[in-house]
Amino acid sequence: MSEKIAVITLSWILSWSFTAVKQLSITYDHLSNNESNVQVITSTPIDVEENVSAESTSKQTYSKTEVHTNDCKDKMYWDKVSLEISEDKNKAYINFPKPPVEQGIKTVSLNVHPMNSTYDRNFGFRFHGISEQQLSLTQKVQEVDLQVFKYNQGEDFVWFVELIGKDSNFNNCFSDSISTLTLETFNNFVNVQPAYKPNVFNPADELYVRVTSFEQEQEFFKHHAYNQQLKKQNQFLPPPSEVGLALLEQNVNELDGPYVDYAINGRNRLHGEVVVGLFGDVEQSDLITMSNMIKTLHIVAPQLNIKYSDHAESVNLPIHFVPCTEYFSDKAYKCKNKALGTYHFPRKYFYVKEQNVLGEFGWIWIDSQRSAELRSHVLVHEFAHALGLLHNKCHDSSVSYNTYAPEIAHFSVLDLVQLRVLYDPNLKVLVNSKQVLRDLNLDEEKYLQYKDSTSTKSLCHEKQGGWRDVIDFQLGLLDYELNEGGNSA
Ligand SMILES: [Zn+2]
Repeated sequence: MSEKIAVITLSWILSWSFTAVKQLSITYDHLSNNESNVQVITSTPIDVEENVSAESTSKQTYSKTEVHTNDCKDKMYWDKVSLEISEDKNKAYINFPKPPVEQGIKTVSLNVHPMNSTYDRNFGFRFHGISEQQLSLTQKVQEVDLQVFKYNQGEDFVWFVELIGKDSNFNNCFSDSISTLTLETFNNFVNVQPAYKPNVFNPADELYVRVTSFEQEQEFFKHHAYNQQLKKQNQFLPPPSEVGLALLEQNVNELDGPYVDYAINGRNRLHGEVVVGLFGDVEQSDLITMSNMIKTLHIVAPQLNIKYSDHAESVNLPIHFVPCTEYFSDKAYKCKNKALGTYHFPRKYFYVKEQNVLGEFGWIWIDSQRSAELRSHVLVHEFAHALGLLHNKCHDSSVSYNTYAPEIAHFSVLDLVQLRVLYDPNLKVLVNSKQVLRDLNLDEEKYLQYKDSTSTKSLCHEKQGGWRDVIDFQLGLLDYELNEGGNSA
């Protein structure tokens, strides 16, 4: 139930993102202006041993003079905390005036977040640069494992290093930036790359062909032929239907909320070469779910050239698995108790010029703290949005906003019926319902009956027959055999 509530805001985000452009630039300007206030620590790197030996003397001094309270909130204590970077710019050391435990501190964490972690074309990639780690309470000088994920950030980009101290009631007694990192002052950056595991995707669904021997080449052609076979299945699917179009022209903005009209021409539709990559805390089950969707799309949208890539620079529909921690929610995206995942429309709706850039087809964020089953459901739900489906109140749909709908991890008949219309190879453009009816040879009267809002609820029960095989295929209960010789001709 709470997870259902969490899904509520997804549509709010979808609609909100259309109206937020102005705010985006305001926030960006605000952050850019702040940049000049950033203090870049260029302190001489310290030697740990030297510092540790200095610890005993400084500890005595502090206990006698400046820091004589054990108040977690004591500003003087926190003012004296410093972060130093080693000479090779790879290691980081944190120096406390005395061990945090002696200052009445219950927990202390060292957190990193990139500047502009919100509202940027590629800000999903910046999510990975947000990290938090608990520090020792008993050590005065600590080496911290500071490995920062980056993506395409330039020389002037800044990461903030923050400390969060909590008192015995687990309330923050300190929360502030103590230092910054840049490409100039720090070396231990790791590039964000998509997850990859062999034998999950059909090799022919991978953007990069991994063939090193003749046998592998033969094998690869078999896999390629299998994909052609899947695409051939499109002609045996049930035809595009009036109910599919009627469903496509409805949306639900809140859990169990009313249906609202949504004209077909506003639909997002993937086209051409779509390259997906899963980034962050990705598990094998997530990759399997993605692979299954790709296979299913070969059948339902055969003209779509959809692939998986483990090279970030090739991906134009990135999917980020990042945990919705309290810190993440605070610094990047207010997901806590609100959202399990989001699909963000490509910005080309706002800035026409932005073609062929990263995230050409938008991007997805998924809360990686969830169970494998729930993540798979959220992945299908968000990917269905990327494909062009909006919410309904039907019981059986991956994009359902019905409280009691099961969290399925495949496209249901109702989803497929809509995808069948949206991705019919004969549907070249999306102008309006009349044009779609004409291009797909649909019955206008029948469509108008379905379109009547009083019958909207019943659309959920208008399940077109003939989809059993595609459902079974997704559930792994059926596979399409290769033709003799593997030729699709
Ligand atoms: Zn949604």
